[in-house]
Amino acid sequence: MGEVLARVEGSKGMYDITMGNDGVVYCACWAWKMSKERPKTCKHLREFLASKAKPKTPTTPTPVSVTATTGSMKTANEVISSVDPKTWDVEEGS
Ligand SMILES: [Zn+2]
Repeated sequence: MGEVLARVEGSKGMYDITMGNDGVVYCACWAWKMSKERPKTCKHLREFLASKAKPKTPTTPTPVSVTATTGSMKTANEVISSVDPKTWDVEEGS
């Protein structure tokens, strides 16, 4: 027994991908059991590992751009509040 990492859909149903207590990642499918590779693997395990590795890269730069946008918006508000309203009254009177 071990921790179920994912449940993947195969051609003949759903297969559990399990992390065993011995550190080996298991798949419930027949191809994994028959695998002669060491460690054993199958197409489900390869797809699971590939999908797990992908999202890590684009997530990191996002908070940096959000901080930059907030900073520029603050600057714009400061510029608007620093404008003297009396300059508009001069144009209205003429
Ligand atoms: Zn499999």
